[in-house]
Amino acid sequence: MKYKRILLKLSGEALMGDQQYGIDSNRLLKYAEEIKEIAQMGVQVAVVIGGGNIFRGVQAEQVGLDRVQGDYMGMLATVINSMALQSAMEKLGVYTRLLSGLNIQQVCEPYIRRRAVRHLEKNRVVIFGAGIGSPYFTTDSAASLRAIEIEADVVLKGTRVDGIYSADPEKNPDAEFYSNISFKDVFEKGLNVMDMTAFTLCKENNLPIVVFNMNKPGNLKRLVEGESIGTLVSMDDIAEAMEETMTKLQQEEANQKSGNF
Ligand code: UDP
Repeated sequence: MKYKRILLKLSGEALMGDQQYGIDSNRLLKYAEEIKEIAQMGVQVAVVIGGGNIFRGVQAEQVGLDRVQGDYMGMLATVINSMALQSAMEKLGVYTRLLSGLNIQQVCEPYIRRRAVRHLEKNRVVIFGAGIGSPYFTTDSAASLRAIEIEADVVLKGTRVDGIYSADPEKNPDAEFYSNISFKDVFEKGLNVMDMTAFTLCKENNLPIVVFNMNKPGNLKRLVEGESIGTLVSMDDIAEAMEETMTKLQQEEANQKSGNF
């Protein structure tokens, strides 16, 4: 097994299937089955689902509502999706726990890092709802942050395309596909992997990201088994890794000199 502990990010929009809004039950079941398969193989699985199929904060602004209010509505939308996934997983006999960044005790546990890790160790699928619980963030950022906190090996970003291309493959047939790319190149080429906050969190904490097609059955399993599926974004460049280490060492030295621990 290439990855022992993963964080799977699914967009809310993906849950819509061919619908214009809401949750497509077939798609939900398919995702639950794919996750069950890898959980049964012993992979520790944490999941973050977006809320774009129901509500996004930016939509609120467009119709004259307060942005912060809209963001909380978006976070609640992610809780709805997370609850749906939890139910689907439990129907398949998989133990799951839903941990929320907002306190909604009647419905789910509050997010507590140690508790999340304990659930994972007991092979329960952990779903993180409500993003990070703060407005002006996205569920991509929540995925990166939670993955770092629980020390996941990788963030697997499930999408409806095969990975990262030099241009939008749905619009440009000549778009080049990358199977491997460094954080630096993603940044320099201005490629769209995640929003900048989420991407920077991964880059600075040396957390690899794999962007892959979640709608191709079996992809998730093959990926965790080590097959080259999708695009791996990592600090594969040794020089880049050395540079990061040097910066960290310099920072630690400076902190020690200033007595700042
Ligand atoms: N959101 C937020 N803080 C977070 C996570 C999400 O405010 O930590 C809100 C934000 O308005 C976002 C919405 O929840 O637009 C739904 O999440 P997202 O857009 O990331 O969903 P996706 O695009 O993955 O479906």
